[in-house]
Amino acid sequence: MTTSTVPEEATHRGEADDHYDAIVVGAGQAGLYALHLLRERGLRARAIDAASGVGGTWFWNRYPGARLHSESHSYQYFFSEEMLREWDWSEMFAGQPELERYYNRVADVLDLRKDIELETRIDSLTFDETRDEWIVATNTGKTYAAKVVIAATGLFSAAPIFPDAPGRERFKGEAHHTARWPKEPVSFAGKKVVVIGTGSTGVQVIPNAARDAERVTVLMRTPNWVVPLNNRPIPPEEMAEIRRGYPELLDWLNSTYGGFLHGFQPKTTKEYTEEELHALYEEQWRKTGFAKWFGMPADVLFDEDANTHYARFIEGKIRPRLDDPNVADMLIPKHPFGAKPVDCETLDYYEVYNQDNVDLVSVVDHPIQEFTETGIRLDDREIEADLIVFATGFEAFVGALNRIDITGLDGQKLKDTWADGPKTLMGVQVSGFPNLFLIGGPHGKGGHGNSPRCADQPLQWIADLARKVVNEGIRRIDPEPEAQEAWTEKVQSSAEGSILAKARSYLFSDNIPGRKRTYVAYSGALRDFVNGLEESAANGYQGFRIVR
Ligand code: NAP
Repeated sequence: MTTSTVPEEATHRGEADDHYDAIVVGAGQAGLYALHLLRERGLRARAIDAASGVGGTWFWNRYPGARLHSESHSYQYFFSEEMLREWDWSEMFAGQPELERYYNRVADVLDLRKDIELETRIDSLTFDETRDEWIVATNTGKTYAAKVVIAATGLFSAAPIFPDAPGRERFKGEAHHTARWPKEPVSFAGKKVVVIGTGSTGVQVIPNAARDAERVTVLMRTPNWVVPLNNRPIPPEEMAEIRRGYPELLDWLNSTYGGFLHGFQPKTTKEYTEEELHALYEEQWRKTGFAKWFGMPADVLFDEDANTHYARFIEGKIRPRLDDPNVADMLIPKHPFGAKPVDCETLDYYEVYNQDNVDLVSVVDHPIQEFTETGIRLDDREIEADLIVFATGFEAFVGALNRIDITGLDGQKLKDTWADGPKTLMGVQVSGFPNLFLIGGPHGKGGHGNSPRCADQPLQWIADLARKVVNEGIRRIDPEPEAQEAWTEKVQSSAEGSILAKARSYLFSDNIPGRKRTYVAYSGALRDFVNGLEESAANGYQGFRIVR
């Protein structure tokens, strides 16, 4: 057996700069909660984040238009009575500044800051087999040792991606990825702006850019289904009523498919008359957020005919809003509704394409050849730009972990282990990487869910297990290889047979050139996901091997 490589300066436990029971990677929504849970269980813990502030996604994604797609009160933490009592949500769907304020307030109220290391990137995590602990090396030169590591690295923000066309560094104007938007305001006024990408982020940023830019050119690869968010302010009396219902609300959220406010209708589409079905579509259309997605009859997402019927209804909503039928043809998706994560519009997204200062270009018909000093060259034209906005998304689920050099038992690298797609047991652990726990990584529920609700119970499960590992002197816990194989196979087969497989998306790593197509999320219901974890724990952590 070869021993894993441990940074030279930390080969002996005593030489690490500090020792913890647990290190949490990330101080975003899940990381802050993980830190709180670990401390509550009496563990010595520290959260480390590359950002200069807390909030994760809501720290990084500060582009104009960044806003929740989950109703604010369904997205908040429910564990802190103090926060529940004091925090009034100003809008049904809070914008980035309000969310950043919220996470900062949480850090203060729970006195988390003293256990958070900001502006510190974790370069490597190396399991020291001689001591059964993780050596955590950072870019500041500080090294930590910890029995347990919780990677609360988030689904997206740590791993933004860019088009692989050459010359990006040659461009002399301003260029920002939406997930690395500067803190200083960026003005679109009077500028020639190119926005690449029409996913959830593009849909939010494009109408903001189109307000006062001289010209906005949208480079679109795949049109997606966009539904109205129906955002509105929450008046004080409504906030008071929402607050009174918090205990019931949490129970309800934990019972829905994705932890969202909206649950599937009890009947299938076939049980409605045509008239009733249209009335239902219209009713859901007027409601907030994902009522139009997870509030439909479930067969809309599982049955091709039901899906097509609903998609034609949405198409009927979109077409009349567009002056040019050719532009409408370009913007109507060809894939089933919900096969790619559905986008929401706050401002009038489709009407933007009727403006004289906005052009829509398909990069499927006119591929990007290269970036130049002054803009972008397509196959048939050069587009001048003062500002390029990369709304091009992320190496989702796996990217944040792949960007850390993670070495487990026998020197194996996580990145190599996942070369043909991630393997996990219940999205919380990987065989060969003992005492490393994942939240919001591959095979976790968050991909089709309301992230904080999807992290809530799994994180409690992880924190309980972390306490057990530390207090009972467990040397190692990781998945039995057979259990991991079976889970990974189950995750794959359930997605491959579903409507999700009928589109190319980040859920299958299709957005990463050269990457093997494998499903990286979890398509089952939140309750089933949590049940799996609870049943395993009740049976002595069945599926996991424990070395004492
Ligand atoms: P995304 O959904 O992956 O969209 C990226 C867009 O960029 C897609 O239109 C993609 O086209 C395009 N693109 C990528 N590479 C390209 C290339 N080389 N050339 C041209 N176009 C390219 O990423 P996102 O919009 O940032 O959203 C990611 C997820 O974040 C969402 O699904 C959602 O879960 C979350 N999000 C949430 C909120 C919210 O809660 N309010 C807001 C924003 C995002 P293809 O479709 O062809 O790949």
